[in-house]
Amino acid sequence: MAWLQRLTLSQKFLATFGLLLLLLGFSLAAILFYLSRINSYVERHKRITVPAITTAAEMQHHLSQLTLDAHTLFEAGSAAGRGEAARRLADRGADIRKALEYYRSTHTARTHPVMFRMLTRHGRADLAAQEDHAIEAISERLNDLGARAKVMSANLSTGHEAEAQTNLAALDALSTQLTEALGTLVEVHTRIDAEMKDEGDSLLLQAKLVILALVLLLGLVIVGAYIAVSRQVARPLRRLADTADRVAHHDLTANFDPWPARDEVGDLTRSLEAMLMNIRDRTRALERKTGELESFTYSVAHDLKTPLREIEGFSSLLARKFGATMEPSARHYVEVIHASAIRLTALIEDLLRYSRIEQQTLPFSQINLRALVEQLVAERQGAAQDPKPEIIVEVPYTEVRGEATSIRQALVNLLDNAVKFSRDSKPARIVIGGAATQTERILWIRDNGIGINPEQAHRIFGLFERLHGPEEYEGTGVGLAIVKLVMDKHRGRVWVESAPGKGSTFYLAFPVDSPTPCAS
Ligand code: ADP
Repeated sequence: MAWLQRLTLSQKFLATFGLLLLLLGFSLAAILFYLSRINSYVERHKRITVPAITTAAEMQHHLSQLTLDAHTLFEAGSAAGRGEAARRLADRGADIRKALEYYRSTHTARTHPVMFRMLTRHGRADLAAQEDHAIEAISERLNDLGARAKVMSANLSTGHEAEAQTNLAALDALSTQLTEALGTLVEVHTRIDAEMKDEGDSLLLQAKLVILALVLLLGLVIVGAYIAVSRQVARPLRRLADTADRVAHHDLTANFDPWPARDEVGDLTRSLEAMLMNIRDRTRALERKTGELESFTYSVAHDLKTPLREIEGFSSLLARKFGATMEPSARHYVEVIHASAIRLTALIEDLLRYSRIEQQTLPFSQINLRALVEQLVAERQGAAQDPKPEIIVEVPYTEVRGEATSIRQALVNLLDNAVKFSRDSKPARIVIGGAATQTERILWIRDNGIGINPEQAHRIFGLFERLHGPEEYEGTGVGLAIVKLVMDKHRGRVWVESAPGKGSTFYLAFPVDSPTPCAS
């Protein structure tokens, strides 16, 4: 079957359909062939048997007339009557001979090669011989009968009544023999017709068997084609799709089953295998680089934290111990150093947090989101911040599926932003609500703060993207990037609806069917 493996899918389909077409063609040709043969036998029955029987019946009729005419001749009283009867007798004889010749030339089995071949095939060539024999016998009797009639007519003309009587009796006997010979002819022909009927029946049977065999063959080819398509196309594609699905879900240990055929499935398998090798190589390289970068970030961040803490601590000590005696400009410098150290520490903390969430793939569990939100709100309302915003929680469902620590971090960032960017509103009001759809659990946090220009809204989820300077609103520009990262890991969505001066609403949508975390 090596040649089969070299064919493309379209060539295999073409071959299958070609085979089906060929079989259909054979079936049609067989049906037509048998129909025409059966039809030819029906036609022959109409063209030969029926006229032959009719001709034989006609001859029998002429014969009975001839016998009657012979008796009329014998009984005629006048010479004129005898002449008339003799003429009719001769006419009848001529009619019978004419019908016999017509029969011999057009109705006998030997004059129809197809019929004669059929009789030979059936082992009944003797019927043709019997027919010839019957015709010969009729012809001979007819000759005898004509001769007798002439002799009887001469006897009557010469007044030899007794000889005429003897000849009439002989004529009657010949007529009887002739009738028997005609009967034999009809009987032989009826047997020939029966052979024709048998031939028609056997042709019909053959036609049925051939058509049945072709239909079975057609069925076998269709079943074979179905099995071949499912083995050669559907099943390997299904297996490829399953493996591709595992790869899509980050299972890089999956392997595509080898497919030796050089068809499209083989090409696809080889391309997917090459793609998988490529992905494995790149993933390995990426993992190595990410690991290096991570340890680099960690060590830089940790190494930076100690000197920063010292700068922050010593600058605050400096301000506290010597602030009163310092020149105002020197005091200002110390304050700037202290504030910058605090900002840098916050930035490093945020970056470490982002990096941790990015690296981690913690398992999902059911989380009571409403309880989590209420706890965070209580923490904010208990804080020593003044004035406190009014925070209303009206989440209509309780559970979402996900990773609790990262979701908590995302909620903290959104809630802190809402508090921060509405602190100048009098009074500040934050509403936390939600909606449960068939596919998602949506949570929204609405504030009545400064709002965002919708044209810039797409930017704010990027790392270090800020729409306000640190002198207006403190911050690092990492908070919303963390929110976006958390929602990506949950295969969820985050978006904002806002307008300057009209407050902002941030939406989080968790998919209902997200059983596993999405690797970053
Ligand atoms: P930041 O540390 O500056 O808050 P974020 O990533 O949390 O960083 O936010 C990015 C920017 O998006 C903010 O600097 C601010 O300009 C804008 N922003 C975020 N939340 C709000 C909000 N609730 N109202 C108005 N602006 C907001």
